[in-house]
Amino acid sequence: MAQHWDAVVVGLGGLGTVVAHDLAASGLRTLGLDRFQPGHDRGSSHGATRVIRKAYFEHPDYVPLLRRSYERWFSLEEKVGQSLFVQSGVLELGPEFGEVVPGVLRAADQHQLTVEALSGQEVEARFPGIEGLDEANLVGVYEPDGGYLLVEDCVRAWSDRATNVGADLRWGAAVTHWDVHPDGFEVAFGEKRFTCTRLVLCPGAWAPQLLPEALAQHLQVKRKPLLWYEAGPRYLESGGFPVWLFELPGGVFYGFPTRDRMGLKAARHSAGLDVNDPLQLDRNLHSYDRDPVEAFLKKHLPDVETEQLNHHAVCMYTLSPDLHPLIGEIEPGLVVAVGLSGHGFKMVPGLGEAIAQLARGEAPTCALDLFRPTRFE
Ligand SMILES: Cc1cc2nc3c(=O)[nH]c(=O)nc-3n(C[C@H](O)[C@H](O)[C@H](O)COP(=O)(O)OP(=O)(O)OC[C@H]3O[C@@H](n4cnc5c(N)ncnc54)[C@H](O)[C@@H]3O)c2cc1C
Repeated sequence: MAQHWDAVVVGLGGLGTVVAHDLAASGLRTLGLDRFQPGHDRGSSHGATRVIRKAYFEHPDYVPLLRRSYERWFSLEEKVGQSLFVQSGVLELGPEFGEVVPGVLRAADQHQLTVEALSGQEVEARFPGIEGLDEANLVGVYEPDGGYLLVEDCVRAWSDRATNVGADLRWGAAVTHWDVHPDGFEVAFGEKRFTCTRLVLCPGAWAPQLLPEALAQHLQVKRKPLLWYEAGPRYLESGGFPVWLFELPGGVFYGFPTRDRMGLKAARHSAGLDVNDPLQLDRNLHSYDRDPVEAFLKKHLPDVETEQLNHHAVCMYTLSPDLHPLIGEIEPGLVVAVGLSGHGFKMVPGLGEAIAQLARGEAPTCALDLFRPTRFE
């Protein structure tokens, strides 16, 4: 007979490790399954760093979730005795009437967050490695509380904590099938079968393969390269250089200060090739990956040595049509949490808590209304 669990979590990446932690911490017998190893580089939670910020241009309704996530990141750092969050500040740049700068100011205003609006000249005076703002009609807004998370360390920390509070996490366990069952749900990997009362699906880029077609049809998986370059001393984090994000006619570009010998990390947030099978992801770097990023760097961060590429990685975004996640209970006991759309890592502590509450039949502390999975029907 199949072993029965109170809860099974499929996918132990950025989000699933937090969900498994919270379910187990509440006393439920929790099984977590992942096809790879903790903190692996095959999905969407690798590449050293992730931006974290609170004055959210994407929608002000994220702010309570982000506040809660900040609290839980700090508390995780204390529990594991490790630095995971570097508060370097975040500088966002774009047209005065674009999407990003007005969006940051709106969220800050609605939620009384500290940000500083800066003209192009003020940005260039304060962060001398940045150039060409006036010519491009760009203004800035600086959020001192923002910064970046050490992404693989974060995933491993949540997975260690989940194990500590009693979750049974199994790695190298690729779920091939799940279905409803008289005892709740049945989950299969290889020859193994489990049943569970609650099932939470957080498979990241594998969502189109694991979710019901009615939801899967709304998701698009995109290939996203990350690039690390040698860079001049003006971009050192130790010198106060922040995380940065530019909204430009040619797309959104972002990156991090230089923190170690890998150099300055830069990437393009917009665009990306479709991925049909995440297991066959093209991890090679092509000129069409480098060219737009390097053209951007030459113009606006000219001390980056674009001919000196130190490293690259390829990751995947899972996008929903409105770029907000799809999270909710789609039938009693079955919760889906997918489509984090290239900006979800910072909020996994708040989301994971709310998802575990949903799975237990409780009202989530942070509202998930914006993420209703059936909103595209
Ligand atoms: C290049 C890049 C840059 C990003 N930058 C930022 C940023 O700066 N700030 C930010 O907040 N967010 C950012 N994001 C988004 C964020 O990192 C992701 O949204 C988030 O990490 C996704 O977490 P996840 O748990 O949904 O997916 P993952 O972490 O990929 O986890 C999914 C897990 O499911 C497992 N799995 C899948 N199918 C199965 C199966 N059948 N059986 C068992 N296990 C399975 C996978 O192995 C994987 O471990 C970025 C993403 C990328 C790719």
